[in-house]
Amino acid sequence: MAEAPPPSLRLTIDRDALAHNWRALDRLSGRASAGAAVKADCYGLGFDTCLPVLRDAGAKDFFVAHWSEVATVARHVDPRSIAVLHGPANRADADYARASGAVPVINSLHQAKQWLDSGGGPCDLMVDSGINRLGISLSEAGDLLVAQLDVRVLMSHLASSDEDSALNAWQLGAFREVLPMIAHKRASLANSAGIALGPDYHFDMTRPGLALYGGVPRGELENAIRQVAYPEAAIIQTRSIAPGDTVGYNATFTADRDMRVGVVSIGYADGILRCWGNSGALKHGEHALPILGKVSMDMVVIDLSAAPELSEGDWVQLPYRLPDAAQHTGLSQYELLTVLGRRLKSG
Ligand SMILES: *Cc1c(COP(=O)(O)O)cnc(C)c1O
Repeated sequence: MAEAPPPSLRLTIDRDALAHNWRALDRLSGRASAGAAVKADCYGLGFDTCLPVLRDAGAKDFFVAHWSEVATVARHVDPRSIAVLHGPANRADADYARASGAVPVINSLHQAKQWLDSGGGPCDLMVDSGINRLGISLSEAGDLLVAQLDVRVLMSHLASSDEDSALNAWQLGAFREVLPMIAHKRASLANSAGIALGPDYHFDMTRPGLALYGGVPRGELENAIRQVAYPEAAIIQTRSIAPGDTVGYNATFTADRDMRVGVVSIGYADGILRCWGNSGALKHGEHALPILGKVSMDMVVIDLSAAPELSEGDWVQLPYRLPDAAQHTGLSQYELLTVLGRRLKSG
């Protein structure tokens, strides 16, 4: 096959900003060290792009969700530094942990038994302190199966650290109560937002994810965190429309004057969902280029009035500063990162 010509959309990753964010979060973690949550392809930004940056910045503990993620991550970091958050559901998972060297996070008595039956060894242990997602419950902390585990990191996960919720202090109290009940080497509670809750929440290791990739889950982090992901797309056609002409699926925009518009090569499959269409705008430098009508499958149509010099082949930017984009679209900052499609990344 001939090599494909240059693409008409791309995602630029600011590697300096990614390294800066890890260092900032590590510094804000005080005497605790920051790990890195890298599950879901580094929140959609790409294992192969992000992992070398995080590793070289100094991260030493990496968290994925699925066993299927281990092999790719292990191309870049020591497999023994990878913890698998969903844990060993069965013997096959436990055997794979042993074969790969990745560390299972034990989340239930069932998983503890799977791990011990397969031979045991170092593992992490998740305690549920109130999110009611993964983790043994507080009442199970004294179980004999738990006592037999060789726990490296004892961890719990905050449900509402991005809010000033009473649940934060409640979970902290519950986690503190469980620490003396289970032998462990290191303790870890805070995700990105939890780091900003202060030193009480830091313990020995923090586990930022979202903020590494430019998310700002709490105002305190606003000045510390830099944007990492910059989606861009090319104008693939321009056209002139007249008063009364409509644009896009369901003709929801009607021109009230003569306009020059640009058709931009980015849409649903790239993660640009319809929520971008409501009074959203793409940008060219400082110029805002309003999106006209609905995102229509693989394309959006923009008003070129503010930048009449633009034409086919010129690139425009999606404003992807995550707190602002979340406010505009109604999507969470997590969704905005993980929804970015594959075509953007081959660019
Ligand atoms: C995803 C995840 C994190 C990272 O959380 P952010 O809110 O993205 O910083 C930390 N710990 C666990 C257990 C997770 O699942």
